[in-house]
Amino acid sequence: MSLDRELFYRHVAQTSDAPIGIEVARAEGIYMYTPEGKRYIDLISGVTVSNVGHSHPAVVEAVSRQAARYMHLMVYGEYVEAPQVRYAQLLSSLMPEGLDNVYFTNSGSEAVEGALKLAKRHTGRSETVCMRNAYHGSTHGALSLMGNESFRYAFRPLLPDVRAIRFGCEADLDLITQRTACVILDPLQCENGLVKASSSYYAQLRQRCTEVGALLVFDEVQTAFGRTGSMLYAEQTEVVPDIVVLAKALGGGMPLGAFIAPTALMRDFTTNPPLGHITTFGGHPVSCAAGKAALEVLLNGGSPLWHEAQRKGNLYVDALQKHPCVRAVRSAGLFVAVDLESEETYWRLLDRMRVNGLVTDSFLYKLNSFRIAPPLTISDEQIAESIELLLRSLDEM
Ligand code: PMP
Repeated sequence: MSLDRELFYRHVAQTSDAPIGIEVARAEGIYMYTPEGKRYIDLISGVTVSNVGHSHPAVVEAVSRQAARYMHLMVYGEYVEAPQVRYAQLLSSLMPEGLDNVYFTNSGSEAVEGALKLAKRHTGRSETVCMRNAYHGSTHGALSLMGNESFRYAFRPLLPDVRAIRFGCEADLDLITQRTACVILDPLQCENGLVKASSSYYAQLRQRCTEVGALLVFDEVQTAFGRTGSMLYAEQTEVVPDIVVLAKALGGGMPLGAFIAPTALMRDFTTNPPLGHITTFGGHPVSCAAGKAALEVLLNGGSPLWHEAQRKGNLYVDALQKHPCVRAVRSAGLFVAVDLESEETYWRLLDRMRVNGLVTDSFLYKLNSFRIAPPLTISDEQIAESIELLLRSLDEM
């Protein structure tokens, strides 16, 4: 065992008894390399973070340029820092109409907390409605919205006044009432294994929120930045939320989160009480510079890389759905969930994939399923290579 591996298990706090445990010396594009030179194809993208691949030269350059100019100067929102301002402007230009004010945070969880607080402050109400089988983060507020009891029972009491309804169930929309401050959902349920609702559901959800005066919050932490074939998954639902939550790919590989709302709504954070949400490192200038550089790579001079996401995703779907070990395949853009017979089958496949130089992961609530979400920059040749290795791994099980 290498010294670093030994120290990893001794001094770095573990989140499970079975960490992936690959030792990475270097990563570039879709590849990760161990100190011994073994190469892995990354089919997770750090959980939909590295949409432009690892250490993209444009992002590396933006990071080093900004780090040399200045790093942290002051807590969030006090100084005019060009990387933040310019990134907020670019993001606003890509959001649904009206969502033009960006609050930068450190992480997705913190952005969720901010969105919940803003909804409470704006409506003067306390109830939050979330969806069963949703995941919104691990801080106390976000954990309270986790649509799966097994991960949260040990941390009670959590936030009061949270009601979980069934995702996609139109009858449950009546449970959204004039007591509800906001409804929060990931409009494509990622950790449930990529589950979509019908377009009439999203329309009725929007209508119900408007009727009762509840804010609609879309958590697009995993789905944004082209992963599902459009800048936001919201575009595919044809619904405009009141608040959008972003993180993961937002920082281009650096830590960054954000919630985005109309200026008039966000202004509620400035009074009664002022400083409605305070963060020291939120919107760190180096993270903002990295995120903006990554987004510019994705925008690709007017021909966004995500226009290819669906076609690329379909290459995996077509190749895998015929395999006898595969039970079902769901996808959105270059985000594919592959169901196997059981969790035990998944673990056996994971071993074969590891040997064959592929990295994947299951979904939090769907343990018989694995994800395929490589960087959006993956070429057709690299897709063909990874499909060959996937099929070989399935055959070897
Ligand atoms: N929302 C969703 C949909 C997520 O997938 C995650 C992270 N997996 C979060 C929120 C929380 O983000 P973070 O881990 O950056 O706090």
